[in-house]
Formats: sequence, structure tokens, C-alpha cells
Amino acid sequence: MNRPTILQLAPMSSDLEAALAARGEVARTPSEAWLAEHAADVTAIVTGGGTGAPRELVERLPNLRLIAINGVGYDKVDVAHAAARGVTVTNTPGVLTDDVADLAVGLVIGLQRNLVGADRHVRDGQWPKGELPLARKVTGLRFGIVGLGRIGRAIADRLKVFGPVAYTGRTKKDVDLPFHPDAASLAAASDVLIVAVSASAETRHLIDAVVLKALGPGGVLVNVARGSVVDEAALVAAIDSRQIAGAALDVFADEPHVPQPLVDSNRTLLTPHIASATVETRAAMAALVLDNLDAFLAGRPLPTPIPPP
Ligand code: NAP
Repeated sequence: MNRPTILQLAPMSSDLEAALAARGEVARTPSEAWLAEHAADVTAIVTGGGTGAPRELVERLPNLRLIAINGVGYDKVDVAHAAARGVTVTNTPGVLTDDVADLAVGLVIGLQRNLVGADRHVRDGQWPKGELPLARKVTGLRFGIVGLGRIGRAIADRLKVFGPVAYTGRTKKDVDLPFHPDAASLAAASDVLIVAVSASAETRHLIDAVVLKALGPGGVLVNVARGSVVDEAALVAAIDSRQIAGAALDVFADEPHVPQPLVDSNRTLLTPHIASATVETRAAMAALVLDNLDAFLAGRPLPTPIPPP
């Protein structure tokens, strides 16, 4: 039986790479020469959420039928374009929700209580020389969630024990939380604004200078969604001018590059897109990628296809 040709466009765990190799011929970062010879062999792409699949590449693969994303965000794949070419796109929804929500809570506490600065204070031998400046209290803060999807809801569930939670989004949900019609209105009513919305052309720069101004000098921004949702230049300006108190960010507009003013600021907490990066969750994500790939190879219905828009 012919082994399928799978194009792997992003690094995966060694277990997932071994599982892919067991299922087909795996090619990585295809060269022009390789494409000239093998483009028509490729039936499946496996990729990461941050890498996606460039439209130009998809157009060169006439027999491509599956793009399996190892992640939930699909902003780097043109799902409508893929569908028009008969390509189904799958992702890994749900299995990473808890991790992303946990990290959001960690970022809130880490930023407000200056956990990184406190750790550095001890390690650098500063403790005997004096105390750290006081931090800010978490319990009692007002939390605003932008995008009450799977992750947004899980963040709300966790933060409800700390203080009141409100939200905004495309649609009002059947939940017992105050709804705001837009991000600026939510920001004005929040001490902590948490971005959990999916990235798209519509949500690009949803968090702009107007929203940051509404958040105000006591407010902080937390982003665990995608860098493109926040106008990073406006964020840098808002932090520099103390228009907002700070920001905790897991995602950036041009990863892995982070604007230097955010790195230099002592009012930011920065993590390198690690919200789903635990052993347990990465294993669950890999299993779902393989479930989708196996269903595709066997001609069965795919477990988690993304419906075309
Ligand atoms: P989800 O369940 O699809 O939730 C997405 C939310 O965004 C929904 O509430 C949706 O509103 C809202 N939304 C979409 N378009 C909007 C618009 N134009 N205006 C306002 N709201 C809009 O997805 P999820 O599983 O919670 O994941 C959310 C995002 O988190 C992913 O797309 C991904 O980018 C990001 N993520 C990041 C990491 C990380 O490592 N940092 C890990 C996983 C996920 P409706 O309910 O009305 O559709």
C-alpha cells in the first residue's frame, strides 16, 4: 500500500513526529526542488497554530485534502480558501482550554504581585538589603474578558473567586455575567482586561488606543489569545505614558520578536507563547491531531473539523 506524503510545517514533539513518520513519508520545510518532484504527492499538512499553512503553498499542492493544526487558533490558515480547494482544516479545540485559563490566572497574579521581581530580589541577594516596593492586591479586582468562548469561560470560572467578572464579544451569551457591547465599554468597567478572543481580520487591533485609554491608569491588560488582536504600538505607548498600569502577555504580533520597550519595562510580564505548553496538554493535542489524521487516512468523518466561514 502506498504511504501518504505528509508535509510537516512546524516543529512537533518527538512523540508526535514519530507517530507521523509511522503513518507516512514526512517532509519538512519543502525546497523548490522537492516541490517540483513531490507537490502532487502531498495529501496532508500537519502544522502549528502560529505557523499555519501559507496560501501560496496550499495552491501548489493539487491533491492536498487535510490541514491538521496542532493548536486551536486557525488565523494562519485561510479556511475559506482551503474549503474552496476541497481541503478540510482541523484544530485541537477544548483539550488546551484549562492550561490557557490557568496561565491567564497566573499572569494576573504574577503581574499584580510582581512575582518575577520578587524572585529576582531573593536570587540577587537583595533581600538582606531591603524590602521590595509593595505590590497590588488581586482579590477584589474587576475582571473583563474579551471573547467568552471556551477559554474565556474557563478564565471567568477561575476568576469569579477573586472578584466580579464581565465580558464582551460578538454575541451575548446565556451566562450570569454582565455583557458589554464593546471592548472600550468593558475596559472602562474593568481593572484587568483579559483578551481571549480568536484572531481574525475583524478582531485585528480590537484592543486599540481607545480601549487602552478606557482601561485607565490603574488598569492592566492580559493577552493569552493572539498578538494581532492588540495594537502593539498603542500598547507600548500606553505603558510608556502610564496610561495603563501594565500588561502581561503570552502572545505578540511578530513572534518570537518582542518590542524592546515591553522587554525593558518593569510593568510588563512576558511569556513566550506557552499557554498550552504542558506535558499533559501537548500530549492531548498530539493525540487529537493524530485522531484527525487517522480518520482522514481511513476515510472516516474527522473529529474536529473547522467549519468554513
Ligand atoms: P472559541 O471557543 O472559538 O472562542 C473564541 C471567542 O472569540 C468566541 O467567544 C467568539 O465569539 C469570539 N469572537 C470571534 N470573533 C469575534 C469578533 N469578531 N468579535 C468579538 N468576539 C469574537 O476559541 P477558544 O478555544 O476559546 O480559543 C480562543 C483563542 O485563544 C484561539 O483562537 C487562539 O487564538 C487563542 N489561544 C492561544 C493559546 C496560547 O498559547 N496563548 C492557546 C490556545 C488558544 P462567539 O462566541 O460569538 O463566536
